[in-house]
Amino acid sequence: MEHVPCNLCGNTESGTLFTIKERLSGKDEFNIVRCGKCGLIYTNPRPSKEEIIRYYPENYEPYKFSMPKALFRGGPGVFGKTKDLIKKKLLNVHYGYFGKTPDSGIFGKLLKMLTTPLMYHFSLIFPEWKERGKALDIGCSTGEYLHWLKELGWETYGVELNEKAADWARKKAGLDVFTGALGEADFPSGYFDAATLFSTLEHLADPLAALKEIVRILKKDGTLIIEVPHLLLLEGRLFKNNWSQFEVPRHLYHFVPQTIEQMLLKAGFKTVIIRHSPHINFFTSTIQNILLKASHGKPSRLHSLLNPDKNRFLPYALSPLNFIFWAINRTGRMVVYAKP
Ligand SMILES: [Zn+2]
Repeated sequence: MEHVPCNLCGNTESGTLFTIKERLSGKDEFNIVRCGKCGLIYTNPRPSKEEIIRYYPENYEPYKFSMPKALFRGGPGVFGKTKDLIKKKLLNVHYGYFGKTPDSGIFGKLLKMLTTPLMYHFSLIFPEWKERGKALDIGCSTGEYLHWLKELGWETYGVELNEKAADWARKKAGLDVFTGALGEADFPSGYFDAATLFSTLEHLADPLAALKEIVRILKKDGTLIIEVPHLLLLEGRLFKNNWSQFEVPRHLYHFVPQTIEQMLLKAGFKTVIIRHSPHINFFTSTIQNILLKASHGKPSRLHSLLNPDKNRFLPYALSPLNFIFWAINRTGRMVVYAKP
């Protein structure tokens, strides 16, 4: 275990907010602390670089060793084709894919606003379209998102620490993926039009250094898109160990809008826009955790009803609630757009 200073301001004074049990083994406990100076929330002390590996089991969920699903899946039947058409239209309206973006006047703005919930429903988070653009996905795992970028016409590159996942992305999915940390990849300066960090920044030992490196390798008009949990402190206090956002020690950092913005500005980004994405999963997973404990680890019927992989209707059933949380910015997930 290692004690670390605040990654954002270097301060060593911090106060403990939570002491949380690691979920997969249910054994080790970790402190989540808040920097007394800048407010950054992080796991401290934390496993060292060598120790952290054992907290990522072989079957760790984000590593999907299956062929990436296509973004546009075609059939079956009219339903599948309509879905693809809607996705294409959304990508056009929001990011300029497939021809000219509708005008930026009142009509265009209204259309964007009205279709935003649908865009999140289909998880369509993409950089603005760029002819012959180069995109880098950092922490790309087995490459599903890279596969989608490629399908949309991007020249794609990936970086992945996990050797097995990176190897799979290269050999099975035919993607250009570097195994290792971003800093080791040694990309040229001003090379990329877009970089993405999805569910990755919170896992990095030194996120500030990674963001500085991204500023270096992005073009001047490039964009970084980050998707990161938004730690909801109130819910954390209420649900404690059951609160599913506490993914310690895999999550080394627990961001809120203020701290992610400060870190991006400190790394050298000039503009930062934070959006909240509707994701009710934190709440359903928390209820699942409570149910599992109550039934001594045996999943009940209600437990599987709350599993979006098993219950396809769950996202639809929860969408009104999801919309309310989204409207008050308490969804547990942020999508951040930053430009150097
Ligand atoms: Zn600090």
